[in-house]
Amino acid sequence: MPAKTFYLETFGCQMNAHDSEKVVGTLMAKGYAQVPTPEEAGLVLYNTCSIRDKAEQKVFHRLQQFKRNGKDKAIGVLGCVAQQEGEHIFERAPHVGLVCGSASYNRLGELLVQIEAGGRRVTGLSLDTDEAFDTPFTRRDNPHRAYITISEGCDKSCAYCVVPFTRGPERSRTSDSVMAEARRLAEQGYSEIQLLGQNVNSYRDPTPAAWNFAILIEHVAQIPGIRRVRYTTSHPRDFGRDIVEAMDANPVLCDHIHLPVQSGSSKMLASMDRLYTRDEYMRRIEWIKTARRHYSITTDIIVGFPGEMEEDFEATLALLDEVEYDSLFSFQYSPRPNTAALRFEDQVPEEEKRRRLTIVQEKQRAIQIRRNAGLIGSVKEVLVEGRNQALAQWIGRTSDNRTLNFTHPDNGGASLVGQYLPVRVTRSGPNSLVGESVTVV
Ligand code: SAM
Ligand code: SF4
Repeated sequence: MPAKTFYLETFGCQMNAHDSEKVVGTLMAKGYAQVPTPEEAGLVLYNTCSIRDKAEQKVFHRLQQFKRNGKDKAIGVLGCVAQQEGEHIFERAPHVGLVCGSASYNRLGELLVQIEAGGRRVTGLSLDTDEAFDTPFTRRDNPHRAYITISEGCDKSCAYCVVPFTRGPERSRTSDSVMAEARRLAEQGYSEIQLLGQNVNSYRDPTPAAWNFAILIEHVAQIPGIRRVRYTTSHPRDFGRDIVEAMDANPVLCDHIHLPVQSGSSKMLASMDRLYTRDEYMRRIEWIKTARRHYSITTDIIVGFPGEMEEDFEATLALLDEVEYDSLFSFQYSPRPNTAALRFEDQVPEEEKRRRLTIVQEKQRAIQIRRNAGLIGSVKEVLVEGRNQALAQWIGRTSDNRTLNFTHPDNGGASLVGQYLPVRVTRSGPNSLVGESVTVV
């Protein structure tokens, strides 16, 4: 294997993005240098996602490329596909040397030593850990916004979902450890914190303090230097009114709530085993909409779950009209290994799933065009995240999680990245806003 160099590609959700930051930190602490292409690397790693079949296939496609020309490299599969497929990966892709699920990343250093010693078929596949992956070696990608994992795994059993199999049972980090990390980040100059968990709001502090999620966010939001706190993803069943009250009480807690509904039909919600009805979900939307502050609301939708009849699908469309989400992620149901829904009858044909997905996306696009147009003329504070040189615009993110690109008199001179600035919205599209900076909010 050439000198200690590695290439890492990440697929999937923010949990994976943050896990990769920890993997990169661990590797760098072991003397590895990150390189931008797999060709240059001695160690090639894929941090994988298996939430839908397409995501999983992407990884095997990548691995295929090394069949002939990867002999001088060590190749590792990390994350959810690793956990799900385990040692089968060695059969499907014999040139892979390391297979490691996220619950075993705290053993990564030790596994690397085995790889360096020429070890083949090295594995870290145990889910038997009480620790949320906590490492001192995190190499953060963004200098202003930092992720903090507050819980790992999932104790729910949604009939379509692989997560309980790939990330194991739910375990929460201690409030002391979360607070210490948040304070450290604030001292290092991070101003935005994003708390992560598969069901972040199911958080239960394992110490005698026994903080719930609402108490935790209240405390994190009070740390000096922290100007924004976000969190993802919330499960509607565990979304209590106390969370809205905590948010109302402290504007550091951002004006955005992601509350995945999956379907607008109570019949489908029951067969998905989501643990709430449409009415119970709508009660939570009501709490949010009648709160003291305005919150943007976003969601996830699955179309074509087994047994979804036209009337169930219509119920989802009606829900989109009723809630008027600010954005959503929509997916065709994808059958996944080990899940209960694999055995369900009445699978919806692929073509019909595609049709329903298009209808959902078109409806939502119209809703977003309308809602975003309503923001023209308003002034919003953005955190400046970057610069689009071609458009001569700065890229900003609002507290309610919209992209707001804007012009500024300091046109490309000094970097504004990391600053919080007031911006007046002048134009809107379905997915973003355009504006100009103003001097006072
Ligand atoms: N824990 C979150 C919750 O309960 O809402 C969801 C986390 S999951 C990683 C992200 C999203 O992927 C889900 O909300 C769901 O919409 C989608 N998803 C999960 N499994 C899926 C499947 N088998 N087919 C299609 N979409 C799926
Ligand atoms: Fe998957 Fe359901 Fe757990 Fe969310 S709550 S991660 S959808 S099993």
